[in-house]
Amino acid sequence: MNNVEKMTDIVAKFVAYTAKKLPDDVIAKLEELGAKEDSPMAKVIYETMFRNQELAVKLDRPSCQDTGVLQFWVKCGTKFPLIDDLEALLKEAVVKATFEAPLRHNSVETFDEYNTGKNVGKGTPTVFWDIVPHSDKCEIYTYMAGGGCTLPGQAMVLMPGEGYEGVTKFVLDRMTSYGLNACPPLLVGVGVATSVETAALLSKKALMRPIGSHNPNERAAKMEKLLEDGINAIGIGPQGMGGKYSVLGVNIENTARHPSAIGVAVNVGCWSHRRGHIIFDKDLNYEITSHSGVIL
Ligand code: SF4
Repeated sequence: MNNVEKMTDIVAKFVAYTAKKLPDDVIAKLEELGAKEDSPMAKVIYETMFRNQELAVKLDRPSCQDTGVLQFWVKCGTKFPLIDDLEALLKEAVVKATFEAPLRHNSVETFDEYNTGKNVGKGTPTVFWDIVPHSDKCEIYTYMAGGGCTLPGQAMVLMPGEGYEGVTKFVLDRMTSYGLNACPPLLVGVGVATSVETAALLSKKALMRPIGSHNPNERAAKMEKLLEDGINAIGIGPQGMGGKYSVLGVNIENTARHPSAIGVAVNVGCWSHRRGHIIFDKDLNYEITSHSGVIL
């Protein structure tokens, strides 16, 4: 097996694994929220989620039928030996995982309207690149973007006078209209930048951050907390059936922006937030930081 085949195989196995087992931070937060809910319905829903996780591993099946469109956030060193092969091998890894896991077929060619049956197509899986100069490592976040949790996504550009109140209204409006459909409790990613595309990318990137992490700017971190409290106060609760907690967290990512515009976007992860994180060195030794005790 050459190195391209070796890395393809590792990524395929990791993707298949993440379909069945949630990351450690998500499990810990679900346990914390489940323990704090006191309505019988909320308790039953959390118990069902934990039972789902047990059975997915025991029966070796994806924990949710919607295994999503695969997205990869790659931070690749310019000296990583397989940088030239990476995009093609990630695509091949998705095909392999689709048949080996198995994963539901979720890649429909737009305009031609047929399902490719392999979870890959024009531009899928999506690969977002960050190039890291002078590094020989490759860090990959894997993400299964399900349909329900993708639906609340929205981006727009606010007038500057709308300020942070405008950002808050934008996020809360999405939560009260579409939050319910996305299998709460939700991880809410918010991007604040200049334009729709910069804000949108940041709002999805925010979902790669661990639950409980904070924006390094203390005002942004305060806004994360205020939004979290505000969305919890709506009372959506687990699976939208009512409860004290509606979110796993709110992560804001931002850049500097044009003074005349506030680009804002929201993206949502569901309770089944299938995010993985794996780091390869130049010899393809790897470390998985999102899930403990993984044997691929
Ligand atoms: S929102 Fe998440 S848990 Fe609900 S069906 Fe979609 S992927 Fe599955």
